[in-house]
Amino acid sequence: MSRSAHPAGPRHADVLTEGHYSAPPADLNALDPKVWSHTVSRTGDGVVSVGGLEVTALAEEFGTPAYFVDETDFRERARAWRTAFGHDADVFYAGKAFLSRAVVRWLHEEGLNLDVCSGGELATALSAGMPADRIAFHGNNKSEDEIRTAIETGVGRIVLDSFQEIVRVAHIAQSLGKRQRVQIRVTVGVEAHTHEFIATAHEDQKFGIALADGQAAEAVRRALALDALDLVGIHSHIGSQIFDMAGFEVAARRVVALLAAVRDEHGVELPEIDLGGGLGIAYTSDDDPREPHEIAKALSEIVTRECEAAKLRTPRISVEPGRAIVGPTAFTLYEVGTIKPLDGLRTYVSVDGGMSDNIRTALYDAEYSVALVSRTSDAEPMLVRVVGKHCESGDIVVKDAFLPADLAPGDLIAVPATGAYCRSMASNYNHALRPPVVAVKDGAARVIVRRETEEDLLRLDVG
Ligand SMILES: *Cc1c(COP(=O)(O)O)cnc(C)c1O
Repeated sequence: MSRSAHPAGPRHADVLTEGHYSAPPADLNALDPKVWSHTVSRTGDGVVSVGGLEVTALAEEFGTPAYFVDETDFRERARAWRTAFGHDADVFYAGKAFLSRAVVRWLHEEGLNLDVCSGGELATALSAGMPADRIAFHGNNKSEDEIRTAIETGVGRIVLDSFQEIVRVAHIAQSLGKRQRVQIRVTVGVEAHTHEFIATAHEDQKFGIALADGQAAEAVRRALALDALDLVGIHSHIGSQIFDMAGFEVAARRVVALLAAVRDEHGVELPEIDLGGGLGIAYTSDDDPREPHEIAKALSEIVTRECEAAKLRTPRISVEPGRAIVGPTAFTLYEVGTIKPLDGLRTYVSVDGGMSDNIRTALYDAEYSVALVSRTSDAEPMLVRVVGKHCESGDIVVKDAFLPADLAPGDLIAVPATGAYCRSMASNYNHALRPPVVAVKDGAARVIVRRETEEDLLRLDVG
């Protein structure tokens, strides 16, 4: 569907050109299975339920705002990735999308590995029992303490991100009397079709070492020369919220070309290639994400073909989906507060959270959907902007959406697909208390990350 204005939209032409909304959906009560987690549906009385529990009861028990994660759906998606890639490949869940100890246990049980990019994420993973050799450590500026902890605990690989880090990691490994498995992160010069802030493989950015002008080949040369490093592969991550496989195709081709050059120069065939994460999900009905099995097939075909052409043994492939696993599995539940109709423009619907629990709209101009979930309504669609309660006019949760015109304070609305990069990026702006994450499964709900309290805030304030 094209993102065009609709006759039922606002009347002013300037607003029409500014908006990104589609036409109002035919049925405002419908829940598009593309954007809602698998166990979400409406019960006979019109209330939305997840995992067999109605949101009205959940709001009563856990309060709002709150994130509800559909554990069944999370496990299904994790398993789908695992199964799609089979035994010849590894799936590393990108912990930065959302990490908690429960999530680590789910991943471990479903046979996935884990990416971390800070000491805090590593501590969380280890404390929940993820075996260190199934953890990869990322980051463009890992501290010496982080590197030391990673090596001491035996992480499966450290992904080297700069020339300085090659030396730093080797030095620390040597001082600990260890040989560390590493990959080198390269930038392949692909600019994925995504928001500029989250496109990471073009060269003018902070991550990785450029393939262009021989930099990556030089990094390989230096890593191979250091006994404390066991260089096992090349890593590429081209961006986030990507739908088009063309970027991965180019990335795979260029990484394989580097493997061939390394073989020619050093007589070494590096056994691993990591193609990163970045696969897109549906935030609105306009998005059409690919299934894990399609992605797995496409990636392994590309790598196999390129390796055959270069007469290389096909390396072990790994991928690092974050958003594509956790994103669609959760929604944020809010209570509607002030409703402010602006004549001829739109109606501002304020909720009890905002940019402190979902910064993505302000940060990336991200799009979201929203639905009235505590009841159904037959009222006309009204064009709304869902905003938070923070002291910023950019405090927008959903920029353009339709909700029924009889929406009232006290109604519950939910924003789907908030599993990734919402709780993990949550802040205490305005001394907001970060919402809890509640896991729901088979008629039972349990808090996996509790709501922050004023006591929590004051505990840090030691002046
Ligand atoms: C962020 C990141 C990912 C995950 O990205 P998604 O878009 O959540 O799939 C994977 N690998 C690396 C290196 C990353 O930085």
